[in-house]
Amino acid sequence: MHKKNARNDKITYTKFIAMSIKNNILSIQSTLPEGVRLVAVSKFHPVETIREAYDAGQRVFGENRVQELADKQPVLPPDIEWHFIGTLQTNKVKYIVPYIAMIQSVDSEKLLQEIDSQARKINRTVNVLIEIHIAEEASKHGFLPDECKELFTNDLSKKYPNVKICGLMGMATFTDNVGQVEREFEKLHDLFEEIRALPQTDEAVFQELSMGMSDDYLLAVKQGSTIVRIGSKIFGERNKRNT
Ligand SMILES: *Cc1c(COP(=O)(O)O)cnc(C)c1O
Repeated sequence: MHKKNARNDKITYTKFIAMSIKNNILSIQSTLPEGVRLVAVSKFHPVETIREAYDAGQRVFGENRVQELADKQPVLPPDIEWHFIGTLQTNKVKYIVPYIAMIQSVDSEKLLQEIDSQARKINRTVNVLIEIHIAEEASKHGFLPDECKELFTNDLSKKYPNVKICGLMGMATFTDNVGQVEREFEKLHDLFEEIRALPQTDEAVFQELSMGMSDDYLLAVKQGSTIVRIGSKIFGERNKRNT
């Protein structure tokens, strides 16, 4: 008797979670202008949870650890578009290059080089974003705006033919100061436009600006974001210490 109730409770709870994941996705989608894509950040969440989001129609997911992604990818539907959004060590690039849809967190030229070389080995072209350091926090990764401009004036597409540089990614400072977050997104958008206008940049490819997370995505969208990366607003809180 007791056992049966526990089981029913579990089913009800699972349904509740599934319902709310679906509702969360729908309600976020309804606030996104056309052309802005939602990456559901599923790090630290189990495959069953990802499947709930998949069943609700979500196809683009973001992960930030190679091992975790390598565990999840083979057991989930093949039409999921996986985006890598975390720190990526060069020696691990080869594990994700065969299937990754986009590596959003390219924070050094060495990494770009490695992605290009691993992609060439398997005759693939990998979509990437260059990560820009716009936040005040020293803990965040990425190129400084000037380093980024220098990178692009060096004719990247000729140097790395097996990567497609689709745009920029950045994270704002973790703060309640809305003005500051807005300014940082605006700065990133300005840099994006500046690089897009360079003669060396292929405008047909360089089109994405990935900025905005659960707490600041509406500000990011206002500043011209084309990709938002949202985790906790879809799946609930994670253990923040692990991020
Ligand atoms: C975890 C993470 C996110 C999602 O964060 P939420 O606040 O849970 O939406 C977005 N981008 C990056 C790079 C992340 O590591």
